[in-house]
Amino acid sequence: MRLILWFRRDLRTKDSAILSHAQGEVLPIFIFDPDILGQLPADDKRVSFIYRSVQRLREQLRTIGLDLSVYYGRPREVFESLLAKCAFDEVLCSCDFDSYAITRDMEIETLLPMRRFYDSFLLHPDDTLKNDGTPYKVFTPFYNSFEPLWSSSHLEEFVRSDTMRLMEWEYQSGVSLEEMGFEVQELPEFLSLDPFEVLDEFLPKLANYRHDRDYFAIEATSRMSVFLRFGLISPRQLCNRVRGHDGDAFYIRELYWREFYNAILYHFPQSERENWNGREIGWREDREQFAAWCEGRTGIPIVDAAMRHLGATGTMHNRLRMIVASYLCKNLFLPWQWGEEYFALKLLDYEASSNIGSWQWGASTGADSVPYFRVFNPYTQSEKFDKEAKFIKSVIPELADIDARLIHRENGVQSNIFVDYPSQLVDIRSSRAEAIERFRRV
Ligand SMILES: Cc1cc2nc3c(=O)[nH]c(=O)nc-3n(C[C@H](O)[C@H](O)[C@H](O)COP(=O)(O)OP(=O)(O)OC[C@H]3O[C@@H](n4cnc5c(N)ncnc54)[C@H](O)[C@@H]3O)c2cc1C
Repeated sequence: MRLILWFRRDLRTKDSAILSHAQGEVLPIFIFDPDILGQLPADDKRVSFIYRSVQRLREQLRTIGLDLSVYYGRPREVFESLLAKCAFDEVLCSCDFDSYAITRDMEIETLLPMRRFYDSFLLHPDDTLKNDGTPYKVFTPFYNSFEPLWSSSHLEEFVRSDTMRLMEWEYQSGVSLEEMGFEVQELPEFLSLDPFEVLDEFLPKLANYRHDRDYFAIEATSRMSVFLRFGLISPRQLCNRVRGHDGDAFYIRELYWREFYNAILYHFPQSERENWNGREIGWREDREQFAAWCEGRTGIPIVDAAMRHLGATGTMHNRLRMIVASYLCKNLFLPWQWGEEYFALKLLDYEASSNIGSWQWGASTGADSVPYFRVFNPYTQSEKFDKEAKFIKSVIPELADIDARLIHRENGVQSNIFVDYPSQLVDIRSSRAEAIERFRRV
């Protein structure tokens, strides 16, 4: 038996489905695909993170007697060149459900049989149907139906096979980031750590997570999303590590939102671009206002700070994501798809299903989404969750000397003639009322 182990979004050696099912001679590979990379800007932060994670994976594989051959090329061509050198029986890899990945895998399957494992989520969407065989559309019953799963003491993890051995091969380290057309990016510091180290820092905060997680000026959340996205930690490992700590149930419930949105996109693929609820909303299409939102020039300190922070770091706290999404869809009345696309370009933890599901939640067009008449007031939000404006001031230095009370008041900053700060794109109260009226008429 001779197998290719194709690592994709499962960059780890523990609780790894492919390392558990491997036997006989194995060739572990990773492919940087120019068709995916070609769509990204040279300063894409994710590519830097993946690049580093692939190098680490190679080191980890070497410590267990394996190795990793890294390629830069179209998967079909890479596989053809591997097959030209040697005969293989099968490819083992994890499932990837996005439309590009499905087409790519079908192509590879014409060359070599593929065995795919469902390894990036706790539940396969096909196993999450209601008794009547239809998908859940509301989160709480979805979550409740799997309650026995998370409340069991330990989720079984994959154990590494001891019947595989590394193939003799000319193992390649691949080309540099620069050779692939990317600039090395500075990444948030926590991403240079092992995910388990980051998680261990979080565990003492877990008991207060339920309350503190909304305060974006303090570090109260787990920061696991990027690691989960690229599989440096598996959701099973994460559940097992937090279970038994005070506050575990609420945290694991949050992880089920990831599962829920994955099931929604899988069962309703049209919701990738269309409103999940099928309603036609007559969004405005003002590209200038959209550019001001992207660049953090809306004249609303909390929105601008969140967007500038996203641009600079590739990260954004969950509450801030909800605030800027509500502002884009309910105050500027611009299409959620524009916001979703921009997040897809910038977020280090970008996960299509969570991003689309959450954007449709904010736009009141999705599964179990916020009612259309619930519109976040950005000033009330910043006053409640960043009272001293610490986060805002840390991102917008022009506001460093401004009294926090002014920052939390509509047009407050603009009333200080010594500060050079953009005027508000729209009036919060009237734009909110107009949005509610437009939604009501749909
Ligand atoms: C408009 C918008 C877009 C979003 N886009 C993404 C995205 O592309 N990728 C992504 O992983 N998350 C997305 N989220 C969800 C959430 O903001 C992030 O998962 C979270 O901020 C990551 O930080 P954390 O790991 O510290 O979260 P924690 O609070 O520590 O939560 C732990 C884990 O639970 C899961 N989780 C928590 N809340 C959600 C949620 N609402 N939806 C799905 N999973 C959740 C995540 O896997 C997260 O890592 C989005 C939310 C909004 C409102």
